[in-house]
Amino acid sequence: MTMRLDYLSIFPAYFDVLDISLLGKAAVNGLVEVHAHDLRDWTHDRHRTVDDTPCGGGAGMVMKPDPWGEAFDEIIGTEPDSSVHVIFPSPSGAPFTQSAAQELSSAVRIVFCCGRYEGIDHRVIDYARSMWTVHEVSLGDYVLNGGEVAALAITEAVVRLVPGFMGNPESLAEESFSAGQDGLLEYPLFTRPVSWRGLDVPEVLMSGHHGRIAKWRRDESVRLTCERRPDLTDSDFGVPH
Ligand code: SAM
Repeated sequence: MTMRLDYLSIFPAYFDVLDISLLGKAAVNGLVEVHAHDLRDWTHDRHRTVDDTPCGGGAGMVMKPDPWGEAFDEIIGTEPDSSVHVIFPSPSGAPFTQSAAQELSSAVRIVFCCGRYEGIDHRVIDYARSMWTVHEVSLGDYVLNGGEVAALAITEAVVRLVPGFMGNPESLAEESFSAGQDGLLEYPLFTRPVSWRGLDVPEVLMSGHHGRIAKWRRDESVRLTCERRPDLTDSDFGVPH
């Protein structure tokens, strides 16, 4: 089944890059269908206004609900449908993770709502929640200018997990955060030449001994995860928390 992706933004040109690389190939192969929309198409004034001052005062502008509502009616429809996933990238959202990407990879319809200015009138999110499956998602503890880059990052993480997307699906199983890695970070990677600028590939990786190689990789994954992301570790794989 084709996954349909819609992007609502005042800068729809951000999504032109989705034609590039594997994602473009996925579109050509019919795995995904991409539609980028200009939110200003649902405004009715000469200046195509999408923002207004915040109720209660304060700095900056807030995205008005009206264009969003009309865009939803036209793009998604006016009937509730829990199979439609609507994503609001937001610094106040739940941190986006590999397991969230995995969950979304089986969706048939995802709509990304890209905020700008100080953000979107909260009633838009409440309305969407009353109609569809809503995810408020943060890319990390920092503030971007808009939701477009977050939507692109989420798209890439999700679409590469769609069955049929990766030429070699085994490469997904052993990646960082994946179940095949017990949620650990990936071990360091090397390729030929064996010696480069005085630096050698670890001898064990050239030994041809599968058992030793697997142990080295596992040990390195555990070491890196403990060092860099202790929050990912738990007692399941014998790593101190
Ligand atoms: N006033 C907001 C706050 O303090 O949390 C920041 C708004 S930001 C300038 C504008 C838009 O960028 C947000 O509505 C959201 O769509 C997007 N955005 C910014 N940082 C993000 C992040 N860390 N993750 C996901 N989206 C983000």
